[in-house]
Amino acid sequence: MSGRPDKLAVAGGTPVRSAMLPYGCPAVDDDDVAAVVAVLRSDWLTTGPKVGEFERAFAEAVGAQHAVAVSSGTAALHAAVHASDIAAGDEVVVPAMTFAASANVVAMQGATPVFADVEADTLLIDPLDVERKLTPRTKAVVAVDYAGQPCDYDALRDLCARRGLRLIADACHSLGAAHRQSRAGTLADLTAFSFHPVKHIATGEGGMVTTASADAAERMRRFRNHGIATDHRQRAEAGTWHYEMVELGYNYRLSDIHCALGLMQLRKLPVWLARRRAIARRYDEAIAPLGIVAPLAVRNGVEHAYHLYVVQVDRQRCTADRQTLYAALRAEGIGVNVHYMPVHLHPFYREHFGTQPGDCPVAEAAYERILSLPMFPRMTDADVDAVVAALRKVDAAYARS
Ligand SMILES: *Cc1c(COP(=O)(O)O)cnc(C)c1O
Repeated sequence: MSGRPDKLAVAGGTPVRSAMLPYGCPAVDDDDVAAVVAVLRSDWLTTGPKVGEFERAFAEAVGAQHAVAVSSGTAALHAAVHASDIAAGDEVVVPAMTFAASANVVAMQGATPVFADVEADTLLIDPLDVERKLTPRTKAVVAVDYAGQPCDYDALRDLCARRGLRLIADACHSLGAAHRQSRAGTLADLTAFSFHPVKHIATGEGGMVTTASADAAERMRRFRNHGIATDHRQRAEAGTWHYEMVELGYNYRLSDIHCALGLMQLRKLPVWLARRRAIARRYDEAIAPLGIVAPLAVRNGVEHAYHLYVVQVDRQRCTADRQTLYAALRAEGIGVNVHYMPVHLHPFYREHFGTQPGDCPVAEAAYERILSLPMFPRMTDADVDAVVAALRKVDAAYARS
C-alpha cells in the first residue's frame, strides 16, 4: 500500500505539502516598509500626524463618522466597554463562541460577562438567547462577527433599543464585511477592529474603534491616553506644559510607525477582500461533494469578509472525530486550526464567574466539530488546491460507507 498517493500522511503516506501552510499570514510589501521607514526618519514616532491620517482614512473606508486608533483589538474593545460606562455590578452579554478578549474586557471593568449561545449554522450570537440572558443589571451586548460575517444586527439593534442597552460590535473578524449595504463599523453603537497580523490588515499590534458618537470618540481618545484631556501634540501646538488627568485611563496609544503601516495596508484591503472571497468560493465548490465536512452557513443579505473559513465535521458521515481530522490534515502540511474553545469553559471564567459545561450547549457541541482552513490573500491557487487535495484524501479515508 505504501507510496499510493491517497495514503494518508498520518499513516505513512506522502504528505500533500512538505512545508506547513499556515491558516493565516500577513502580506507586507516594499511600499509598507518604505512607509514605516519614512516615519522612523520623521519628527513624530508617536502622537504625530499619521495617527489622525489613519483614523480618517479608516473611518472613510468603513463609512463611520469617527475612528479612534488604539494599541490592539483588545484595547479597542476595552475602550468601547469603558465608553459605554460598564462598571462593577453591570452585566454584559457576550457570545460563548469567540476569542477570550471579547469577554475579558468586561471583566477588566469589574463587570460580569454573561454568555449567550450561538446559532448552530453560523455560530453567530443568537438574539433569542441574548433575550433569555438579560437581567435588570444588563447594560450592553457584545456582538462578534464570527469568521467575518455580520451578526443579525436587525434583531440585535431592535432588542437593544427596546431594552435600553448599548450594542458593541467585535468586528475583529469582519473588516470589509457588510449587512444590507451597511459596512461593519456602522452596525453598532461602537465597533472594535484588530490589526493583529492574521487579521485583514496588519500593523503588528493595533486596533481601532468606530462610532457615530462624537462624545464616545472623545472619551476613547482620553481613555487611550491615561485619561488625560489633551495629548502631547496638542500641548506642543498650544505652547503649554499644563495637562489634567480627569479619569483613569491606560496607555493604549497606537504609534505613528504602526499607523503609517496601517494606512498603506488599508489601501490594499479591497483587493485582499476580493481574494479572500475568491478562495472561499473555491472551497465552497470543492467541499460541497465531500461528505465529512460542511462549511458554515452564510446569512442572507451579508457580504462576508472571510477572516476564517470554518468547516464542521459531520459525525453522521465521518468515522473520525475532529481531533483525528486535525492531526491528519496537519500531517498533510495543511495548517488547520480551531477557533475557538467556548470562552465560558476557560478555567478563569469557571473559577471567577461560575460558568460550566452546559451553559451554552450549541457552542459546546460546535467546538467539538469545527476546523478553520487556511485563509489569507497571499494563498496561491496551488495552495488552495493543496488544501482541497488533503480534504479529498481524508474524505476518502474517513467517509462512512
Ligand atoms: C483578534 C481578536 C481580538 C483581539 O485583538 P488583538 O488585536 O489581538 O488584541 C478580539 N476579538 C476577536 C474576535 C478577535 O479575533
